[in-house]
Amino acid sequence: MSDPLSKLLEQKKKNFLLLDGGKTCFCSFCAIVWQGLATHLEEKGFDISGSLWASKLLLTNPDAIVQAHLDYLRVVHIKPIVEALQKFFFFLPQKRIKYFQSKKKTLQLCVGCNIKFGLSEKEGYAKISESVELAQKAIDHFGKEGNKHSKEVIIAGSVGCYGATLHDGSEYTGIYDITEESKFDFLKAFHKPRMQALLRAKRGNDIVIACETVPLQIEILAMCACLDELQCYGWISMCCRNDSELCSGEKLCDVVPYLLKSQYCIGIGINCLDPVYVTALLDTIQSQIRGQPKRMLLIAYPNKGEKWDDQTRQWIPGTKMSDAEFTLLAKEWVQHGAQIIGGCCRTNPQTIATISKLVRHHFPLAKL
Ligand SMILES: [Zn+2]
Repeated sequence: MSDPLSKLLEQKKKNFLLLDGGKTCFCSFCAIVWQGLATHLEEKGFDISGSLWASKLLLTNPDAIVQAHLDYLRVVHIKPIVEALQKFFFFLPQKRIKYFQSKKKTLQLCVGCNIKFGLSEKEGYAKISESVELAQKAIDHFGKEGNKHSKEVIIAGSVGCYGATLHDGSEYTGIYDITEESKFDFLKAFHKPRMQALLRAKRGNDIVIACETVPLQIEILAMCACLDELQCYGWISMCCRNDSELCSGEKLCDVVPYLLKSQYCIGIGINCLDPVYVTALLDTIQSQIRGQPKRMLLIAYPNKGEKWDDQTRQWIPGTKMSDAEFTLLAKEWVQHGAQIIGGCCRTNPQTIATISKLVRHHFPLAKL
């Protein structure tokens, strides 16, 4: 059985030609993904402060999420992938909650919505499912507006790394405060129910699981094991601190062989990193997946490279890449084999619209 992304690749096989640095290669498909939904919601004036970030709106204003998805869908003219928004909802076993309570500083952040918002575990997971249903609602609306390809849109159910839920920046260091004997088992137990909640959602369009912003090897392996156990297709997207290392300092090239062994991991990506590192990282992944019997999609959706000042809790002015610069790099990513491209934090629908135009202009056959 083929996964939804490969199914699309097969359908479009003959239609795409990308020029690859002078060599010619056939590439069937280029999709656009966005993870900048939180940035966009903030720009629209919604308050996303607090440990749940934009997921808070799942509780307070779900319609805002549907509208934000629609804002993206309307600007993208090649096949988009819609990201559901759930990564900051999570639950921990009672034992863990006690542990965090003893470390007061991280309590409210770590136990997330079930304490801060008074949700039961069951209600919290229902919210995760709802995030997919909201994405579906936006897609249905998009179809009603006359887009005849809306049925082909794939929903990517987002599963952020454990560190992202801690709200202490550890997704960019990989330094997790896990005391359990087996980090692997802990992380697996943490991620699997969230994936199950995404898969349980009522929907008409296909879904894949997007494991995102993962900074360390053990977590990558744990997420991969979840995909295989649940027999659901998904990609693993890593967060890197330079052009060769994960944020944890481990080598990206050491991880790729593990991903190739997984039956259900169908894509290797990098996201929420400085865009200047993307091309070199894609080359590293390419050199390892080329010639392998298993086809792997290459995925890249970095942030805008903006620097964060931990002291003032603000972005440092002038450090953000412009849409034009970002898009020039995006062209390079496609030329270096990326089949799914897009933007993460600090990108917005304008960024995605600019990339989308570029893809249509430079790779006209990628048009639907
Ligand atoms: Zn991001």
